Amino acid sequence: MSSNTEFLLGVEDLTVSFDGFKAVDGLNLYLEKDELRVIIGPNGAGKTTVLDMICGKTRPTGGSIKFRNRELVGMAEHTIVRAGVGRKFQTPSIYENLTVFENLEVSFPKGRSVLGCLAFKATPDVVDRIHKVAEEIFLKEFLDVEGALLSHGQKQWLEIGMLLMQEPELLMLDEPVAGMSPVEREQTADLLKRICKGRSIIIIEHDMEFVSRIAHKVTVLHLGKILAEGTMLEVQNNPKVIEVYLGH
Ligand code: ADP
Ligand code: MG
Repeated sequence: MSSNTEFLLGVEDLTVSFDGFKAVDGLNLYLEKDELRVIIGPNGAGKTTVLDMICGKTRPTGGSIKFRNRELVGMAEHTIVRAGVGRKFQTPSIYENLTVFENLEVSFPKGRSVLGCLAFKATPDVVDRIHKVAEEIFLKEFLDVEGALLSHGQKQWLEIGMLLMQEPELLMLDEPVAGMSPVEREQTADLLKRICKGRSIIIIEHDMEFVSRIAHKVTVLHLGKILAEGTMLEVQNNPKVIEVYLGH
């Protein structure tokens, strides 16, 4: 199973200790292409830490993270981004003083050299892509609007769009609908179902109604370990899950 090539992401025995405390403890996680996986679990379960390790922000103390059969453990964060992994943090981090268009434009991967960076000017291809992404994230009519003027939900969408500009094969989102209205949540569910085609997505989420709408499979984390994994229905009816999480 471990070297199976059909998995886009294969996490094995992943562990991290902070001063002797194991925040993530022997985690195994396999993600297929086109899969939308949701990770749930109580606060402090280690959910964010798992994403931190996959994107290279936190260095594991043990285990392996294979992405398209390449080992990510030990790689620098920017190398992991370039390999095709995009990560969105809990709070939106867009450029408030740039327009939607400009936010998407600066997110286009410009290649490696400083010269490439300086010489960069949005070519028709890039402009095309900006328009496509803007339409995908419901901001087609907002291209000239400054980031600061967007609603909280629109900022979240813009940040997803900024990641899409890099065409990641694995997209990781930490609580993407926090602070969104019910209508925005519904739109976001549609957006995520659309953009998981051709890539894989990992989402951390607490809103179970939302989770049930998007998840292919749900992984329940508790005390750094997997408590349960399966379809939403299986997980919802799991007595252990009800006891530590859903019962509250
Ligand atoms: P979740 O996202 O599931 O709420 P986290 O992954 O943020 O949980 O945190 C898991 C545990 O690890 C928590 O007890 C948290 O305090 C601890 N933790 C996370 N990051 C660090 C760190 N950099 N240093 C020390 N402890 C940390
Ligand atoms: Mg968290």
